[in-house]
Order: sequence, then structure tokens, then C-alpha cells
Amino acid sequence: MAEHDFDLFVIGGGSGGVRAARMAAQHGARVALAEAAALGGTCVNVGCIPKKLYSYASHYADAFREAAGFGWDLAPARLDWERLKANRAAEIARLNAVYEQVLTGVGVEIVRGWAQVIDGHTVHLQLPSGTRNFSARYILIATGGTPTVPFFPGCKEVVTSDSMFDLDPFPKRLVVVGGGYIACEFASIFHGLGAKVTQLYRGEQVLRGFDGDIRQFVAQEMRKTGLVLRLHSDVTSVERRASGLAVTLTHGEAIEADTVLYATGRVPNVNGLGLAAAGIAHNRQGAIQVDASYRTSLASVYAVGDVTARVQLTPVALAEAMSVVDHLFGPPRHALNYELIPTAVFTQPNVATVGITEAQARRSCTGVRVYRSEFKPLRHTLSGSNERTLMKLVVDSSSDRVVGLHMVGPDAGEIVQGLAVAMMAGATKSHFDRTLGIHPTLAEEFVTMRQPIEI
Ligand SMILES: Cc1cc2nc3c(=O)[nH]c(=O)nc-3n(C[C@H](O)[C@H](O)[C@H](O)COP(=O)(O)OP(=O)(O)OC[C@H]3O[C@@H](n4cnc5c(N)ncnc54)[C@H](O)[C@@H]3O)c2cc1C
Repeated sequence: MAEHDFDLFVIGGGSGGVRAARMAAQHGARVALAEAAALGGTCVNVGCIPKKLYSYASHYADAFREAAGFGWDLAPARLDWERLKANRAAEIARLNAVYEQVLTGVGVEIVRGWAQVIDGHTVHLQLPSGTRNFSARYILIATGGTPTVPFFPGCKEVVTSDSMFDLDPFPKRLVVVGGGYIACEFASIFHGLGAKVTQLYRGEQVLRGFDGDIRQFVAQEMRKTGLVLRLHSDVTSVERRASGLAVTLTHGEAIEADTVLYATGRVPNVNGLGLAAAGIAHNRQGAIQVDASYRTSLASVYAVGDVTARVQLTPVALAEAMSVVDHLFGPPRHALNYELIPTAVFTQPNVATVGITEAQARRSCTGVRVYRSEFKPLRHTLSGSNERTLMKLVVDSSSDRVVGLHMVGPDAGEIVQGLAVAMMAGATKSHFDRTLGIHPTLAEEFVTMRQPIEI
């Protein structure tokens, strides 16, 4: 008789949990996974995937406008919001089924319900049919994060990103509060879809943590599309009136909106997990503390992804999950390099980046060379759009290594993904210089910047 019901019990069927469960089962482990909501977690249901689908939808508005310059005459375009929502829902349902198939196909037992950790080897499940305890050699917590709204008068009237995909009706006037990537993306997407968008951010510039030039430039480009972006602005109250929601700002001015989106922060999803009783250390916000192998303070319990509040991105949750599985059941793999995580922001235009900012390089390198190119893309010579593109390389002068690569422009994520491989391989500026461009593309600019900017 086996000592435990399972070798691994995974709590949470999102990016990290599903990847860990599948890989552990492929290593021959007996695995169960508990999920209380839809399989696929945040990314599939209310994050990356539906957001990117809506981002594609919003870009059509530009394409229709720009088509005239390329000789096309089109009838006025109109968005059918209900159709977009229905098509998105159908695709997400398809993905939910794929996730289920992927897990059951390798023998993972899926348990539908809320899980609570009782001790290092016991998980308690709240099932529709009652409660049940499962025992496991190892437990992996991958319960992700959830949006949070601060308390203020009228806070019950606002929505979070979870609700944005199914709004009914389409918000003609949208106020977005926040300056992080989720706020910027929803502001851009709904502006593209035809809403009148006002984005409010209390800080001095959006996208804190990104390169200063990039932040400045994308804010300027977003404004050029007609979206209203107000910095140093915060909300004191929201009141529902017959004509809509009255949003009062700190300096007394009021704006009317149909929907107010708060995208000001996310917290680890640890409600009801029983961390304190089980003796699993976490910080005040609930982020589970882990060591370099993602082990919590309880030796047989591990945690990955957003619940540890380190880097909240799907590929990071996936890589952490694979690292835990290899640590427990297979040959260990290379530790994840948190320094070189490429990332994109699906604003209009897109942002993508890998490596460090110019300011970080100036603090950590003895000498820095910066290459910067700002231009009007070829496509916009006929499109009529005044959108511009920015590309930037940050180079450590002593080693010639490219330590930061940043872009604002169309398909920035697609371009930067490839260059992230070069950065991981330790590419120097001289490697970039020796690389031939693909002409005519936007991306070739990254290998043709010759003159560092004067500081
Ligand atoms: C609007 C938005 C856009 C995003 N866009 C991107 C993007 O473009 N690119 C990117 O890389 N990342 C993006 N992210 C972040 C990405 O979605 C997360 O980093 C990723 O989903 C984290 O995976 P996870 O496994 O840690 O948690 P999740 O995917 O959140 O999964 C956690 C799962 O655990 C379940 N759960 C929680 N508690 C329990 C319990 N007690 N018992 C049973 N089940 C439980 C939840 O129901 C959930 O399904 C976005 C996030 C949001 C909100």
C-alpha cells in the first residue's frame, strides 16, 4: 500500500498548477489537481488570452481607418460587442476543455472544489458532494492572485479586470484607474473598440518599472490616439446617478462614466487556504514565502506563480512549475534567470522589453552606452497615422554586452521575443552590429543603430 493517496497534490488549475500536474504525471508521479473555478486560471479565463483577443479586435479599428491610404474603400465599420463576447467565450470554453483533456490524458485526477492545506501532507477539499481529505507526499500551491480595490466612498460601484470581458452593455464612457500594464492595456483596448476612455493615474508616469524613455514615449503615443491620460490624478468617490457614474477626483472635478475599472493592484489568492494554521509563512499581503527551489516554510509544501508575488507573468509561473517538478521527480534543471524576463504590454502601440532599464544600468555598470532610434514606420507613410516607433539598446561599455533592449511599436512582443534569446546567449553590441538586417522591417533597426546618444 502506498503511504499517501498521491505523490503530488496541486492546488490551483491555472498556468503554474496545470503545467506542474501534467509534467509530474509524465514523470510517472501519481497526481491530483484541485480547481474551484474554470481550468486554465487567470491567463486563460480573465487574463492574457481574452485580453489579447480583445486587443486584436481593437486594432481592427486602426486597420479600417488606415486602409484608405492603401487604396481600399470600406463601408463604415461597426463593432458588434455581443458577437465579440460570444466568440471569445466559445474560444475560452474550447481552451478549458483542452486543459481538462491534457490533464486527464496523462492520468491526473481533477478534483473540483476549494482546497485547504491542513498539514504538510493533507489537503482538505470542499466538494459539491461534501468534504474529503487527501494525503500527498508533496503539495504544490499555485492559487494565483486576484484583483483588489481599495476602500473609498462608492468603491462597490467599480469593477475589476475580471469583469471587463463580459460588460453589458458596452461602456461608451470608461474611466480606468491605475498606471500598471493591466490598466494601460484595458485603456488602449477599449479606446480602440470605440469607448471614450479616461485613464487616471496618481503617479508621475505610467508603467512604473519600465525604462523612463519607454514610459514617456508610450504615454505620448497613447494620447495621440485620442485617449485621455491624466497623471497625478486620483479618485475620491464614485456615485451612481441617473446619467451614469460620477467619478470625483482629488482636486474636486467630476467625470461621468458608464464603467469605472480599477486596475490598481492584485493580491495573492490565499483566502481560506489555511496557511497560518498549517504553519506556512507568508507576508502581510498573503504572498507565500519560498526558497530558491520554491519550497515553503513547511518542508513538503511548495508554491509557484502569482501566489508568491514575485514576477506575475504566465511564462514565469510555467517555468517555476517545471523547476519544482524537476526538483521533486526528475533531473534538476537550470535555475530560472529572473534578470532576463522578456515582457510585453499590449497597449496601442505595443511595448516590449527585456533586460534592465537605462537608469538601472547607470547604477550597476561602470560605463553605459545608449542607442536610441525614433522614427515613423514605413507603413504609416501611406496609412495616414502619425504613430511613431521607439527602439533602444542599453549597453554595458566595459563588456560590450547588451543589457537592456526596449521597444514601443507594432508587434514589439514578437520582435523582442527573438532578441531575448540573443540576450540570454550573452550577445554584445558587436554581435548586433555584425548581424544583417531583414529589409524592410521595423526589427532591422535593432541591428543598424551605430551612434550612441550623447548624454
Ligand atoms: C488582465 C490580465 C492580463 C494578463 N496578461 C498577461 C499577459 O499578457 N502575459 C502574461 O505573461 N501574464 C499576464 N497576466 C498574468 C497571468 O495571468 C498570471 O501571471 C498567471 O495566470 C499566474 O498563473 P498562476 O498559476 O500563478 O495562477 P492562476 O492562473 O491565477 O491560477 C490559479 C488558479 O487557482 C484556483 N484556486 C485559487 N484558490 C484555490 C483553492 N483554494 N482551491 C482550488 N483552486 C483554487 C483559481 O480558481 C485559479 O484557477 C495577466 C493577468 C491579468 C489579470
